[in-house]
Amino acid sequence: MQIITEPCQMQAIAEKLRLNRQLIGVVMTMGALHEGHLSLVKLARQSAGTVILTIFVNPSQFGLDEDLHQYPRPFEQDVALAKAAEVDYLFAPDAGSIYPENYQTTLECGALGKRLEGERRPGHFNGVATIVTKLFHITKPHRAIFGQKDAQQLAIIRQIVKDLDLDITIVAAPIIREESGLAVSSRNIYLSNQERSAASILYQGICHAEQCIADKKKELPAIAAEIEQMIGSTPGCRSDYVVFVDEERFLPVETVEEGKEYRLLLAAWCGRVRLIDNGKFRA
Ligand code: AMP
Repeated sequence: MQIITEPCQMQAIAEKLRLNRQLIGVVMTMGALHEGHLSLVKLARQSAGTVILTIFVNPSQFGLDEDLHQYPRPFEQDVALAKAAEVDYLFAPDAGSIYPENYQTTLECGALGKRLEGERRPGHFNGVATIVTKLFHITKPHRAIFGQKDAQQLAIIRQIVKDLDLDITIVAAPIIREESGLAVSSRNIYLSNQERSAASILYQGICHAEQCIADKKKELPAIAAEIEQMIGSTPGCRSDYVVFVDEERFLPVETVEEGKEYRLLLAAWCGRVRLIDNGKFRA
């Protein structure tokens, strides 16, 4: 595995790979690699000849009151995990080479980037859109694998690819969970043992929704309210939002229609950690 830190060097390698007709798969992360990230690498490995993993803690997607400076950066451990996962190139630039002095350009998301997570974290998705687009230009992938764990982010990336006519196939990877059901996340290390077991309430909420829909309950806001109640009555947990949305626009849906797909989005605080999760349902 080769470690690359300079955008122009990564670009030159990607260009050469393309000239040699290599299929490039990319996985973009902020590091502190875990089973979720490694499942994405595995999918990339299965469908591409060359796998590029990017690690970059992107300052422009963090709010002023967020954890940019505390975000875990266990680089040596990440290198070992990436090697073991048979990554070909690890692209790990520093902030100065991605946003050099006098950097000025930011991608602006439309309505999809301003709802839900976008409303709670103003500017977050503009930061995500900008870095993902820059990393597309640097790594020149044919395929890019993203986790459904960040469902709204994935929908925004699909929108960028469509709106900007990018010739890249987006692959959506399933959510990897701990045994308790808690979705694996780099931020889970901030949870105390007690908070960690309480945090499985989000997954219990998803299971409750699954049961309600299987039982042909039709009123989605009522199901969401029951889940908010479940979260609110778990010690140390506080619901931020629980909502069913349609798969394309992420607009709230009220009533179930037979044969349609919905996504339940959840955001909650467990102690001082904000967690997001989601589940997909077909009625
Ligand atoms: P992050 O490092 O948190 O920015 O995540 C990088 C990529 O890994 C994104 O595409 C995430 O959706 C994905 N990811 C994070 N956690 C999980 C998980 N538990 N299961 C599947 N994919 C995940």
